[in-house]
Amino acid sequence: KMDIKLENVKYIYNPGAVNEKTALKGISLCIPQGQFAALVGSTGSGKSTLIQILNGLKMPASGEITYDGRSIGKDKKALRELRCRIGIVFQYPEYQLFDETVLKDAAFGPRNKGFTQEEALKAAEKALREAGLPEESFGRSPFDLSGGEKRRAAIAGVMAMEPEVLILDEPTAGLDPAGKNEILNLVKRYHESGNVTVIMVSHNMDEVAEYSDRVIVMEEGRVLMDGEPHEVFRHEEVLKQAGLSVPQVTKLCSDLGIEGPVTMDEAADVIMKFCHENNPGK
Ligand code: ADP
Repeated sequence: KMDIKLENVKYIYNPGAVNEKTALKGISLCIPQGQFAALVGSTGSGKSTLIQILNGLKMPASGEITYDGRSIGKDKKALRELRCRIGIVFQYPEYQLFDETVLKDAAFGPRNKGFTQEEALKAAEKALREAGLPEESFGRSPFDLSGGEKRRAAIAGVMAMEPEVLILDEPTAGLDPAGKNEILNLVKRYHESGNVTVIMVSHNMDEVAEYSDRVIVMEEGRVLMDGEPHEVFRHEEVLKQAGLSVPQVTKLCSDLGIEGPVTMDEAADVIMKFCHENNPGK
């Protein structure tokens, strides 16, 4: 199986300098193929550093990372291949749109992967369609798209490479609620399209609870908690100390004396039951 394994991974910025900073203090994790993992933690906890290590953009100071049983090292050719298999969508990816048309832009990744021009355009078209971009926009400048469309076009450019692992750094940041839902559903569909692994950095616990099946909580370069959303969101106090919260519905239910729900649907179920028990006959 194509799992990602980290063994005691450390990362240090500016080693030896006065501003030396240990961003990762020995991370050990296994992310199995097909999982939808959320990576959460306050600013500076090491999330961005970790995801850059996962696709070989940064090399750890010590420790080991393996993907699909192979160690991620410095070999240039192996790294190029790895970056096609593990795709990263950075924060505000629309700032990186550059080509003269939406279609050409989305074809850039597949071209890099070694596709012919024709294959690359085909892959780009498919990804843009799946991302819900209107056909008539394909020939237009990416700069003419709306904010939400730009974001989806940029994500489609990564999806067009059909990575086996898709990593997203706060993909919904700065979008309105409708735009957020479009992105999250796009990611969800991509996750379900095959045995794809998704690793999503998020500050929004509601979306974490709604979409992920595992929550990895980072604090100061370490993994503070790691488990299913129900396990992790049971620890409101620990999360608070790490500068995080529980989903809003979890808080609401907890205020009503109901422990457990983390998603909207679960909360609706228990609240219905709660009302029924407190108002029998109604
Ligand atoms: P997060 O993504 O969770 O906000 P980062 O991985 O960006 O966290 O940062 C982890 C730590 O590393 C922070 O203390 C941050 O200040 C530091 N850091 C990040 N990038 C650099 C850099 N280029 N140079 C020095 N320190 C950095």
